[in-house]
Amino acid sequence: MTPLLELRSISCGYENTVIAGQLNMQLQAGEIACLLGPSGCGKTTVLRAVAGFNSLLSGTIVQNGKEISSVGFTLPPEQRGIGVVFQDYALFPHLNVFDNIAFGLHRRSAAEKKLSVAEMLKLVELPDISNRYPHELSGGQQQRVALARALAPKPKLLLMDEPFSNLDTDLRKQLALEVRSILKDQGIAAIMVTHDQQEAFAISDKLGILARGTLQQWGTPTELYYQPVNPLVAGFVGKGELFDAECLSETAVVTELGTIEFAEPFGGVTGKQLSLFIRPADIRPSTEKGNVMATIEQKEFLGSSVVYQLMLPSGRRIESEIFEPLMFEVGSQVSLHVSAHRPIAFSG
Ligand code: ADP
Ligand code: MG
Repeated sequence: MTPLLELRSISCGYENTVIAGQLNMQLQAGEIACLLGPSGCGKTTVLRAVAGFNSLLSGTIVQNGKEISSVGFTLPPEQRGIGVVFQDYALFPHLNVFDNIAFGLHRRSAAEKKLSVAEMLKLVELPDISNRYPHELSGGQQQRVALARALAPKPKLLLMDEPFSNLDTDLRKQLALEVRSILKDQGIAAIMVTHDQQEAFAISDKLGILARGTLQQWGTPTELYYQPVNPLVAGFVGKGELFDAECLSETAVVTELGTIEFAEPFGGVTGKQLSLFIRPADIRPSTEKGNVMATIEQKEFLGSSVVYQLMLPSGRRIESEIFEPLMFEVGSQVSLHVSAHRPIAFSG
């Protein structure tokens, strides 16, 4: 199937400075993707190139098999049929909600505009607030209006630049899930950029990690979480730390946290040195006998889990997260038990 959008080795930047280079990805119709990366890594720059606001330094962007950007050629944004929700909403402050949403509906009759605006307000679950101005709306409502405005012309692809960054954490995840269901209902594909891992996981079918000037990995959220290609990706999609490890057998390694047995062979060869990425939820403190002891330095009760800061005999500090009300006092000695379903191992 011809992808809806393809980035073929694109490099984006300003003048001759490459901000993000050698990006490859494919998006199928109706698929929702997310580019996750730290602030300043070039997310907005890449999104602007896809929208047609910025030109490419190399590579090509192909939409439905047709080249829309290459070096020296940039099909103008209005000819791409791509909807955009900019960072900080960018609603027109002097236009009311109706006119904001109707903004992209040129050449439609007044009756069609009215129908379409009403449909969009319903879609984003806003009551009829057509006469209100942006400053009379909450942050969440403004965000919904911005989404309604981008969706009104019925684009096949929607680009969203940190659309929820001005909202508080709970609302952010809730809106991400709502937007996902709206897009899925309407069969609209999307690329969202964000620096928030939870938001990215909530919304995306496919996820890319943009860091250090390039796309580090592109795949489903589960692939990135369980099979990250490098420690940078591993750390970006969830907490965890690297430990030196030596393979004892095909299914066991020894680390500073003791011996770890895995359920299945993971490609380890006896004697081989590895780096193992271990997540806090895989480290369990216990009062049972174990081969490595640690001291509880801090505990944080989070409701559904308890997070402990532990000090190892080497002086290294690590984190453990347990999803049951296991209470250890600060200062107590515990043994460590590590169990990972699948090891995340990097050579060398
Ligand atoms: P992000 O959206 O991931 O935070 P940006 O794409 O906004 O990152 O910016 C990436 C880099 O590009 C930054 O170092 C920024 O200073 C630089 N940059 C952004 N816009 C411009 C511009 N118009 N001209 C030159 N450099 C820019
Ligand atoms: Mg940005």
